[in-house]
Amino acid sequence: MLDKVRYMVATLRHSMSYANAINDFFLEYYLRHKKIIGWYKGLPVYSSFLTPGLSKPLANLLSRRLISSLIDKPLPGIVHIGVTNTCNAKCEHCSFFTAMDTLGTRVMDFAELQKLIRSLQAYGVAIINFVGGEPLLRKELPDIIACIDKDKSVSSIYTNGWFLAPMAASLKKAGTMLVNASLDAPDAEAHDAFRRLPGLFERALEGIKACRRHGLLTGISTTVTQEGLASGSFEHILHLAKKLRVNEVIVFDAMPVGMYSHRVDLSKKPLDRKKLLEIVDTYNADPSYPGIFCYAHFRDTISFGCSAGRNYCYISPYGDVCPCDFTAMPVGNIKDTEFARIWLKMAAEKRNSSNEYMNSCCASQEEEIYHIGSRKSTS
Ligand code: SF4
Ligand code: SF4
Repeated sequence: MLDKVRYMVATLRHSMSYANAINDFFLEYYLRHKKIIGWYKGLPVYSSFLTPGLSKPLANLLSRRLISSLIDKPLPGIVHIGVTNTCNAKCEHCSFFTAMDTLGTRVMDFAELQKLIRSLQAYGVAIINFVGGEPLLRKELPDIIACIDKDKSVSSIYTNGWFLAPMAASLKKAGTMLVNASLDAPDAEAHDAFRRLPGLFERALEGIKACRRHGLLTGISTTVTQEGLASGSFEHILHLAKKLRVNEVIVFDAMPVGMYSHRVDLSKKPLDRKKLLEIVDTYNADPSYPGIFCYAHFRDTISFGCSAGRNYCYISPYGDVCPCDFTAMPVGNIKDTEFARIWLKMAAEKRNSSNEYMNSCCASQEEEIYHIGSRKSTS
């Protein structure tokens, strides 16, 4: 009896700090930081790759993780949906259009997208992100986002930013959590040349500012190269992100896929991840900078590894379900097959013959993907 009372007193005294400690350990492992980057519906957001703390979508995500381990089957937590097969830019590194050559031919209509969102949510997907081509060219995008039950899932958009400013208000009204605009260089000349669209840099900046005015969380997604690291251009983007008061910077490393398939240098002489992560840790430790999500850390086998077909998948504008945006290997099409069936097939294939996916994975083309260097404290 005495032990029971003591246990209850200890629970009351320590449960809050215990929950906080779990939160902090998880965030340090997953994100390499534990900064609150912003607030969505009154709840703390740590990254667009996570549902907000204490939210119903987080409860959804956690319960699915529990079920996943109980049934010993991976369940999807994050799905990217391509909503259009067109784009107004011609980026040097684009992997989208080359991948589309191998996939279906009719873009999903509104009813199909609505049905897809319902089935993803029924299957427990807690983060639904929209990509393209250029997703803002799909004028129905706010209506598509409005279809999401916000008690179950949150959503983000990845855009080149050209059409963003005039759409910010409707995206906010639709309930979007975060909008990511791409910036690959800290100045207009270099960015516009890389994306082959004059004026894009300024339009993206205007879009980011408009999102902030309308109370949307905003992010910058950037592709980092060895040259960008060496020249300091990557750090200048972080300074620009701070100046623009964006909430998150998402860092992808350039991959030898799509228009960069010829870039054998990217696999033969991979990015200096140790240096990249040192920079990321330095700015993540500074509360005046946005949170930085570094894909090179995330897919590192010692942290999370390749999540394609394990926690994540990509659905092309044609409805083809693929392991990820960079691996155009459709396992099925949602126009004729239930999403859950395609997912289970993909997850089983991934589990049983990882080579099939890993051989065509950008990351596997590198000589090694192991732990990269030590981490600095972010406290
Ligand atoms: S904005 Fe995206 S889809 Fe359009 S060309 Fe650039 S990388 Fe490709
Ligand atoms: S297949 Fe490659 S690009 Fe896709 S999620 Fe895995 S590591 Fe990342």
